[in-house]
Amino acid sequence: MKKEDEGKVSCLGCGSKKMNKVISQVTYHRSEEDRVREFDPRKPQGEEFYKDSRNVGLWAKKRLKEMGVDMGDQLEEITESARSGKILQKYGL
Ligand SMILES: [Zn+2]
Repeated sequence: MKKEDEGKVSCLGCGSKKMNKVISQVTYHRSEEDRVREFDPRKPQGEEFYKDSRNVGLWAKKRLKEMGVDMGDQLEEITESARSGKILQKYGL
């Protein structure tokens, strides 16, 4: 909305001209790499953290990286199956 249009806008419900500007929520996409880098394994994570399936496997990834273990595609595969629940089928759980 342009500055000069501000006074012309009124509420559709009651016709009031007392309006507040609302900025829509910005979705900010972080890459997998960013999340691994920013993830602190020493910081306790809330339940919400693990509700985001993208965070599953983050801890293992971080630890392995710190230990200098490069599992490459294999780790990606394991993480992916853990996220999708396929790892449970794989091990008959
Ligand atoms: Zn209104």
